[in-house]
Amino acid sequence: MSTRAPAVEARQLIKTYPGDVTALNGMDLTVSPGTVFGLLGPNGAGKSTTVKILTTLARPDSGTASVAGHDVLTHPDRVRRSIGVVAQKSGADPVATGRENLLLQGRLYGMRGTAVQRRADEQLERFDLADAGKRLVKGYSGGMQRRLDVAIGLVHRPEVLFLDEPTTGLDPEARTAMWDEISRLAGEEGLTIVLTTHYLEEADRLAERVAIVDRGRVVVEGTPDALKGELRGDAVHLELRAAHVPDGTTAVLDGLPGVHEVLADGRRVSVRAEDGAAAVPVLLAALERAGTGVASATVARPSLDDVYLRYAGRRFAEADAPSASAPAPAVAGGVR
Ligand code: ADP
Repeated sequence: MSTRAPAVEARQLIKTYPGDVTALNGMDLTVSPGTVFGLLGPNGAGKSTTVKILTTLARPDSGTASVAGHDVLTHPDRVRRSIGVVAQKSGADPVATGRENLLLQGRLYGMRGTAVQRRADEQLERFDLADAGKRLVKGYSGGMQRRLDVAIGLVHRPEVLFLDEPTTGLDPEARTAMWDEISRLAGEEGLTIVLTTHYLEEADRLAERVAIVDRGRVVVEGTPDALKGELRGDAVHLELRAAHVPDGTTAVLDGLPGVHEVLADGRRVSVRAEDGAAAVPVLLAALERAGTGVASATVARPSLDDVYLRYAGRRFAEADAPSASAPAPAVAGGVR
């Protein structure tokens, strides 16, 4: 844990929108400098609203927040100088070249003369856009455009970079390339990255710490591994040859060493096992003795979806409304 002041700190942010929509309902965040922090949640959870407040584009109804040591409400100008923002929708001018876009952004931040020219070229080089820099942005692929967006966001050397859903809309290949790019940035110059995403895999892969957001607040926060580790052991899913789990089998399996939480549903049996791979032969033998063979067995490490289910009480896909316009339901108490 870093002893330096947090790069981002938010305390009890509340934000409501007209029509009685509670977008934030006591949002708390602490991000250590030089780390990648993931805000993970389904659509409508409050991620964008949080980022808008932290980037001074919106004001909370109540609560406090600081970024790079500056209060977002009393010193928004200082916050803006310290941050780079890559919004979901590209801010690049499509009828200007990549280089012109970088120059414009640099000048907006007061960079002049050869310094801004050098910085634009450096960014083109760094984001593998050196050849494309002379071409109009409207001719770029989705992945190139996204890389340019990040290059623009970093042109003035911010301390904290906000990436809002950086890979939404990218094809799988461009998404993987973007992930590599973000991982690379994370190791550089003590940059802090706050990433919002509704992809479980993205948060798992990129973020050192993840806050799972649901209905306007953080329901659980920690390293992806620690969060998954809270769910004891691996998930083992078995499909039986018999049409139904024989009577009494659940109790037999539950009594096996290292096996917990046995759930039977039709011909499917799911258990948690401290060591999934070691449990499979034991489970197969016990089921044989109970009179049924097993058609298939799979072992899975707990996913962030399992973590979300535990803390939010529903599956990610269920919560992930296609439209974020539905009002947030009342928050159930006692999830933390
Ligand atoms: P996320 O980024 O996690 O998808 P948002 O912060 O965009 O979530 O939205 C949180 C909630 O606030 C949603 O219910 C959304 O519909 C609502 N909301 C967001 N922006 C506005 C707005 N400008 N006016 C009214 N409601 C809004």
